[in-house]
Amino acid sequence: METCWDSEGIRRRPALRENLIADAAVIGAGLAGLLTAYELQRRGLNVIVLEADRIMSGVSGRTTAKITAQHGLIYSKLYDKVGETAARRYAASNLSAVEKFKRIIDKEKIECAFETVPSYLYATHDRRSLEHEAEAMRKIGVITDVVEETSLPFKTVGALRLDGQAQFDPMKFARAISDKLTIYEKSKVIDIEANRVICENGKVRADNIVMATNYPIINFPGFYFMRQHRERAYVEAIEGVTKLDGIYYGFDGGHSFRNAENAVLVTGEVHRTGDRALKNAEKLRRDVRIDFPCGSVRCTWSTQDCMTHDGIPFIGRYSIHSPNLFVITGFNKWGMTSSMLASEIIADMICDRANDFENLYTPQRLHTVGTKALLADVGQSVKGLGEGLFSKKERKCTHLGCRLKFNEEEQTWDCPCHGSRFKKDGRLINGPAVRDLKK
Ligand SMILES: Cc1cc2nc3c(=O)[nH]c(=O)nc-3n(C[C@H](O)[C@H](O)[C@H](O)COP(=O)(O)OP(=O)(O)OC[C@H]3O[C@@H](n4cnc5c(N)ncnc54)[C@H](O)[C@@H]3O)c2cc1C
Repeated sequence: METCWDSEGIRRRPALRENLIADAAVIGAGLAGLLTAYELQRRGLNVIVLEADRIMSGVSGRTTAKITAQHGLIYSKLYDKVGETAARRYAASNLSAVEKFKRIIDKEKIECAFETVPSYLYATHDRRSLEHEAEAMRKIGVITDVVEETSLPFKTVGALRLDGQAQFDPMKFARAISDKLTIYEKSKVIDIEANRVICENGKVRADNIVMATNYPIINFPGFYFMRQHRERAYVEAIEGVTKLDGIYYGFDGGHSFRNAENAVLVTGEVHRTGDRALKNAEKLRRDVRIDFPCGSVRCTWSTQDCMTHDGIPFIGRYSIHSPNLFVITGFNKWGMTSSMLASEIIADMICDRANDFENLYTPQRLHTVGTKALLADVGQSVKGLGEGLFSKKERKCTHLGCRLKFNEEEQTWDCPCHGSRFKKDGRLINGPAVRDLKK
C-alpha cells in the first residue's frame, strides 16, 4: 500500500559499521527524531541519527500531515479533567509549533506544498460536545468560531473553525531537514547501555540519547508498554472530486479530510492494532464511495500511532533513573505539532534551558485522568501475555511474548497489546519489538 507522498527524493544513507562518539544520539528518523536532531544541531551539538529502516519509513511517511493545534475534543477534556493551566499550555505549545513550521520553512526556503488553511472540527450529530469544546477554547483564549456550513460533501451539525493552521507534504519537508543531518539508515538499535547506543554492527557513545522510535523499545525503566497502546487508521486519496476549503476532523464518527495536490485524502475507521483491520478498512472504502460517488481512488494506505491515557504525549526524561535518556512518544495521532514542540522541549532540557511546557508533557506526571484506559491496557497486556504462553513460538511477539493476531487486510501479524507488527514470513515491520519472529 503506497502513499501519495514521494520518498524518492530523500538521499540514501549508509548503515552504521563503526563505533562513533557524539554529543547526542537520536534513535529514529521520523518527524520527531529529525526535528529534534535538527534543533540540537542548530544549537551547536554534534548529533547522530540512527534509523532502523529508511528516513521517514515509519508513521511520518504515512501520515496525512495536517499541522494544527485543534486535536479533537482535547481542550474540553483537559480543561475539565486536568485543569485550565494544562489546557492553556497545550494550546500555547501547539499553536507555537504551527508558527515554528512556518518559520523553518521560510528560513530554509523549503518547497513542501505548505499552505496555511483553516482547521475545522466538525460534528455529525453531537452538537453539544462541539459547543463545549468551543467554550473551553474560548476560556483559554483561543479564538474560534462555530460555523454551520462546510465544504464537506455531506451535512454536519456544525464545525468549529480555527484559522491559521496548515498542511504540507511531509516527505518534501523531511527531505530538506534531513539533508543537513548525519543519519545512518538500516541501523536498527537493539539496546542501550549507559551512554552507549548499540546497533547490530556498530555503537554510538553519546552524552545524551533521544528515543524517537514512535514506540519506545526499552521496557524497563519507563514502563511505556503499560502506558499507551497503538491504534491503526486507513487513508484513501480520491481524485476527481471538489477540493475542500481547509482541513477537517470529525470527532463523533466522521472521517478526517484534507486536499493533497489534485486529490482529497480521507482518513478514518480507527481501531486498536490487532483488531478489526479488515472490517474497518472495508467500512472506509464503503463510506468513501458514498461521500464521493464520482471520485476515483488514486492510492490507499494505513498506519498507526501511540495513544496515551490522558491524551497528552510523553516528552522528556525516559525515567527518573535515566538523566541522559530522553523519550518522545504518545502523539495520539497528532504528531506534526507534537514533533515540533517535542524538539524544542528536548533541546531545552539537553541544553539546560527552562521550557514553559516541560511539566505538561513530562512522562513522570502523576494524575488520575485516564485510569480506565490504563486498566484496559494493562488488562490487554495480561490477556495477551497469558495467550502467548500457550502459543507457538512463531506466533509470539518478540517484544514481551504476547500472542499475535493475523491482519487479513494487510496480511501481517499484529500485536494487540503493544502494536509490534511482522510480515507474514516473520520479518519485523514495527517495534517496540526489535527482532523478527522465531521460525
Ligand atoms: C492515519 C494517521 C493519520 C495521521 N495524520 C496526522 C495529521 O494529519 N496530523 C498530525 O499532526 N498527525 C497525524 N498523525 C500522527 C503522526 O503521523 C505521527 O504521530 C507522527 O508521524 C509520529 O512521528 P514519529 O517520529 O514519532 O514516528 P515515526 O515516523 O514512526 O518515526 C519513528 C522512526 O523510528 C524508527 N525506529 C523504530 N525502531 C527503531 C530502532 N530499534 N532503531 C532505530 N530506529 C528505529 C522507525 O523505523 C521510524 O522511522 C496521523 C497518524 C495516523 C495513524
